[in-house]
Amino acid sequence: MGQILKSIKGFMGPAKYIQGAGLLNQLGEYTTPFGDKLIAFIDDFLYESIAKQLEGVYGGRCQNVKFSGQVSLENAKRYIGIAKQSDASVVLGIGGGRTMDMAKLVANETGLSQVIIPTSASTDAPTSALSVIYTEEGKHSHEIFYDKGPDLVLVDTDVIAAAPIRLLVSGMGDAMATLFEARANLISDSTTNMKGGYKQTLAAYAIAKECYAVLLRDGYNAKLAAEAGALSPALDNIIEVNTLLSGVGAETNGASGAHAFHDGFTVLAACHNKLHGEKVSFGVVCQLVLENRPPEELEEVLQFACSVGLPVCMADLGVTSLTSEDARAIAKAVMASPLILRECLDVNEDLIFATILAADKIGSNYKATH
Ligand SMILES: [Zn+2]
Repeated sequence: MGQILKSIKGFMGPAKYIQGAGLLNQLGEYTTPFGDKLIAFIDDFLYESIAKQLEGVYGGRCQNVKFSGQVSLENAKRYIGIAKQSDASVVLGIGGGRTMDMAKLVANETGLSQVIIPTSASTDAPTSALSVIYTEEGKHSHEIFYDKGPDLVLVDTDVIAAAPIRLLVSGMGDAMATLFEARANLISDSTTNMKGGYKQTLAAYAIAKECYAVLLRDGYNAKLAAEAGALSPALDNIIEVNTLLSGVGAETNGASGAHAFHDGFTVLAACHNKLHGEKVSFGVVCQLVLENRPPEELEEVLQFACSVGLPVCMADLGVTSLTSEDARAIAKAVMASPLILRECLDVNEDLIFATILAADKIGSNYKATH
């Protein structure tokens, strides 16, 4: 039976994804199929402007709730209570990763429809069927996986284009990992990130390949366009890459080495102010060094990462001189992540330790010579 289960493939994503300029102003049209009473969880730092916009769209039909604090189980209890007391039939989650994760948690607990509206293209949270749970103190606790993804992911490119450039670039770092992690999972015959642990589909792998191809082609120009405040076709593509291709690609292929190294970097205080995708970027370099990929492949990644300003060495992550103790601490944390076991070779702490030192040298040497 185990043998048979091992071969079951699976694919999932949001029921609907739409992307375009100014969509937030027509939000009513898109949410009508889910009912006319809504409850919106809105990021606290965007609350005033978004709440005003929703007021214009819905009048009094949408209850606006300011989201603040952690995506903790304690906090979730409070927000689930608020949703249960409302007579809404749909939950809107508008903001960054934490707000979207809380909205998904509330919608799944209450059985309400879920409409997710990201305000930056920096994470895989909009499309994924999971929430990352933290303690009240902000320490990572666990993930809750859901049976289905959001009913609708609505991406207003005007909103995304106005977000800080660093968020867009960080999203590219996360997207850069998708294909390499998919390949590691394919070779090691590992399961995906989906609830139920299915195997990869051809569709999932095709998404990962396109994710990387468009990233290399349009990433640099998209960053320049964002800096110019211009919603160019390249920027429009990268918003989709960072949100849909990276999100569905990671969920349906599975994460592996790059994210395991990311988890490792989080043990160093110096890395704490770095964004998820920034840490993942150097994680990709580490993964390729671990797998001893051809120099051309590594060079392509280094060249792209440097062109958009993504980290390729520990100094880029705030650790100016990597000590052996730091590298050892990272290696221990990498080995504690189950994701590293999805790599297609036998790993141990010493190998990871050596990989971190070598990758750091390769990345900093590349920067010094290019
Ligand atoms: Zn990620």
